[in-house]
Amino acid sequence: MSNLIKLKELALDILFPPICLNCENSLVKAEKNNGICDLCLSKIIIHTTLFCPTCRARLPENKKTCHQNSAYLLGAAADYDGAVKNIIRRLKYKSWSRLKNPIGYLLKIYLKNLKLDKAKLKNYLVIPIPLHKNRERERGFNQAELIGKIISEKYNLPLAKGILIRNKETKSQTELKNWDERKNNLTGAFKIENAEYLKNKNIILVDDVYTSGATVNEAVKTLRTAGAKKIVALVIAKTK
Ligand SMILES: [Zn+2]
Ligand SMILES: [Zn+2]
Repeated sequence: MSNLIKLKELALDILFPPICLNCENSLVKAEKNNGICDLCLSKIIIHTTLFCPTCRARLPENKKTCHQNSAYLLGAAADYDGAVKNIIRRLKYKSWSRLKNPIGYLLKIYLKNLKLDKAKLKNYLVIPIPLHKNRERERGFNQAELIGKIISEKYNLPLAKGILIRNKETKSQTELKNWDERKNNLTGAFKIENAEYLKNKNIILVDDVYTSGATVNEAVKTLRTAGAKKIVALVIAKTK
């Protein structure tokens, strides 16, 4: 963090003492850098398994046991409610520096719980779900990319940017009225550049939150068509 940003945050802390984004109690000491108080953070239930993307059943062995035809496995550190919902909502509007620690913490514990075999992860690329370039410019960052960076550093895997591209400026899925509109909104949303990188590669596809799964499904379809093999979609939180 540059000194100027540190100074700006210090000034903001004096004017607006930092409060927990979940319970709104004042943050003290190290909590200030986390955006959330230790008590709220400690109450979050962190998952121990991967999930079936079709029925969301737990997959304790990291293998498909129910819907064998699912195109990918789903990993989610927590459920999308309570404090986690507040963290993720804040992610779109607040500076990453105050959310990096709690998100990194949730991911770190979750990945440890999964006991993924590092040797088997060797052939994986980390690919963040991209934003359309106009939206990324507007927001200043892509939250999926920041989360992807934590994962790529943890497993020492390449973070592959500029391969999966957002083709179309899609509307937010929540703005759309019915299922047909939602489906058409995402059709052709992604394209691949530099497809040669994907041949015989496995992918950890990263996003912040998994609700209907429509965005991830569309990205998986695009990656598969381009030759990607196994895909694990990894998010901070999923709806139940
Ligand atoms: Zn709190
Ligand atoms: Zn299933």
